[in-house]
Amino acid sequence: MSYLTLKNINKIYPNGFHAVHDFNLEIEKGEFIVFVGPSGCGKSTTLRMVAGLEDISNGEFLINGKRANEMGPREREIAMVFQSYALYPQMTVFDNIAFGLTLQGVDEDVIEEKVKNTARILGLTDYLDRYPRALSGGQRQRVAIGRAIIRKVGVFLMDEPLSNLDAKQRVTMRSEIAQIHRNTGATTIYVTHDQTEAMTLADRIVVMKDGYIQQVGTPYDLYYEPVNVFVAGFIGEPPMNFVRGVLKDGKLTFGANQLDVTKKLGDKAKKYEGKEIVFGFRPEAIELGSKPGAYVVKADVELTEMLGDNTNVYITAGEDKAILKVDPHDTPKIDTTIEFSIPMESVYLFDGETEMVIK
Ligand code: ATP
Repeated sequence: MSYLTLKNINKIYPNGFHAVHDFNLEIEKGEFIVFVGPSGCGKSTTLRMVAGLEDISNGEFLINGKRANEMGPREREIAMVFQSYALYPQMTVFDNIAFGLTLQGVDEDVIEEKVKNTARILGLTDYLDRYPRALSGGQRQRVAIGRAIIRKVGVFLMDEPLSNLDAKQRVTMRSEIAQIHRNTGATTIYVTHDQTEAMTLADRIVVMKDGYIQQVGTPYDLYYEPVNVFVAGFIGEPPMNFVRGVLKDGKLTFGANQLDVTKKLGDKAKKYEGKEIVFGFRPEAIELGSKPGAYVVKADVELTEMLGDNTNVYITAGEDKAILKVDPHDTPKIDTTIEFSIPMESVYLFDGETEMVIK
């Protein structure tokens, strides 16, 4: 198992495009790190620099404290699973899993034992004689994972490994990947644009946007202590609701509602008077009705979606829109006006200019 250090890593592609800016991160032995962010934010580029598939333009990358910038992919003792599986179609599942060991000239008996062990972990024992074309997407992905975990490596890299699976398979494979990580304890970097995958798998998440790290933290940290509007809106499903407005007499307008944010702002209230701020609250952090000590808001119900364990209620208040998550038994009627309460501690305020959280 390895630990990794990324110090001021930058990637500037030959066409001049600066894809990754000053990426700094220490990854501990056995940690499961997820890089998450929208398409084009630089996740894959960073992963490929760790794998040695892409040059590092600036900065230093260390494996177990040793400079690794110039090391070839093999020397880094890293295994990678791609979104496209990259299985050999003319080889059986057994041979696909065994491939790396065969190349290394490992004894056949040892290979057989290791392949059988790996297949057992991945539930592929009954499929060893099949060819990839006769497997489902989930099974193919497990073969690709098997091929990676059979070798003793220090680091395990995965680039959107579940994106070719359907929704149900993704949930199953997600828990399998968590289980494999528990069994192998391998240091892992996992790239995805899916915040649910990030939240469920990661020890720590790195949220990226436009080539910059926005925040690094545990799923709990990112959900409860987002540093800016982007992270607050990226983590959580449905996302956090935001109401933007200029602070007037300490109040922010949400439709016909005037939310007095001076208590929340404390001695910063004066500083923000006349400035734009962003008022954020999570869909699930509300209660229907009017509660003492909370922000009470009146809004119109535009649409409701019954999802079984909860209902998403789409509301409008003037120009502003938001989604509330309520108990299905309390689903309000469309085209009615409702009142709901946001507890003071569930409100996040952000600076409208810098988009950073106001602490
Ligand atoms: P996705 O989820 O869509 O794969 P990503 O976050 O993994 O996105 P990257 O593939 O790392 O994003 O790409 C980051 C940025 O670098 C993108 O804007 C992309 O267009 C650009 N880029 C990627 N490869 C090259 C290249 N070879 N030359 C120039 N620019 C590139």
